[in-house]
Amino acid sequence: MSAKQEAFSAESFVVAPVRDLPKSGIREFFDLVAGRTDVISLGVGEPDFTTPWNIRESAIYSLEAGHTAYTSNAGTPALRKAICQYLHSDYQLDYDPMSECLVTIGVSEALDLAMRALINPGDEVIYTSPSFVSYPAEVLMARGVPVPLPTKDVDNFSVNPDDLRKLITPRSKVLLLNFPCNPTGAVANEDVLREIASIACEHNLIVISDEIYSELVYDGWKHVSIASLPGMKERTIFLHGFSKAFAMTGFRIGYVCAPKAITDAMYKIHQYSIMCASITAQEAALEALKTARKDMIAMRDSYWERRNIIVRGLRDAGLDCVMPQGAFYAFPSIKSTGMTSREFAEKLLKEESVAVVPGSAFGPGGEGYVRACYATAEDQIIEALKRIKRFVAKYSK
Ligand code: PMP
Repeated sequence: MSAKQEAFSAESFVVAPVRDLPKSGIREFFDLVAGRTDVISLGVGEPDFTTPWNIRESAIYSLEAGHTAYTSNAGTPALRKAICQYLHSDYQLDYDPMSECLVTIGVSEALDLAMRALINPGDEVIYTSPSFVSYPAEVLMARGVPVPLPTKDVDNFSVNPDDLRKLITPRSKVLLLNFPCNPTGAVANEDVLREIASIACEHNLIVISDEIYSELVYDGWKHVSIASLPGMKERTIFLHGFSKAFAMTGFRIGYVCAPKAITDAMYKIHQYSIMCASITAQEAALEALKTARKDMIAMRDSYWERRNIIVRGLRDAGLDCVMPQGAFYAFPSIKSTGMTSREFAEKLLKEESVAVVPGSAFGPGGEGYVRACYATAEDQIIEALKRIKRFVAKYSK
């Protein structure tokens, strides 16, 4: 036998960046919950609402009408026009639907396309940390170097522009932002965004702005997109989708708006690897933009009530918790218990049957915190808070 036959190892065929990638810390943790019916889950980051009926009905109608073929690669013109109108009216952003807008399979695909379109091996991508688990993984898969920009509770988990400046090197190419933020619920005010924008211009960075939670902001907060600031439209890749605000996670539908040269580049990757998003999902998304605004507002108001309950309850349990202004996550500090975030989450699950996600799953900046998703029934949140209070009292030092 030749050495080659003897040494066969399937794993050796897998490229290093993928082989070395850890599996998502969230999924790993949720394997522990799988199959248990007694657990109150504040874990998975998705709306507890079913997609509003008019959106589901439009998907059913689309199938009934026999709309089962491919669409144009970039998405149906009707949906792209509706997206650009929505961004014009609600975000003060002007994109051309035919050349600057691409419909994708969720923000997940849009993020992947952006990385593949922009990153040369060794290029550095600065991203706020703690962050959505996919960010560093996407950068690594594109052979880039993820550079975490720590955000802190003393700054309400917003960006400290001085911290950002310190991380910039000649290899810095992309700045990846996510406001409102998963997992912290943080938002960035316009002054901070202006400073970030001026740093991006000064150092010639391109900004990827993941605004998937931008409708879900509270207490009258007005979301501002960094792309709407002077000089920023040409250097921003705006990512958004329907998963969160319209409770459409399972439809897998999102979009990217960006300058034509970048949209063209992302379009080529999308065209060859994906072809197009599902027509059923695209028609449902069009319906969402046309008629589901009131449903979105009702869902947002309900998250707002639950946010108030959970933050009050966590504080009452003795945990410091920044008031999250957006998304549907609370990110309390568990440092007073002396446990690591993983120990805390595992023990809480074992002893009180409540699932939260260890902050460490969201990167090194998340250690010392846990993420509690409040897109869960109110009575379940109240019961979970009782158990957390009991648990914290037992372990607090
Ligand atoms: N960005 C952030 C910050 C998220 O939290 C998520 C989903 N958890 C996504 C992107 C991906 O969303 P989707 O692919 O469903 O649009």
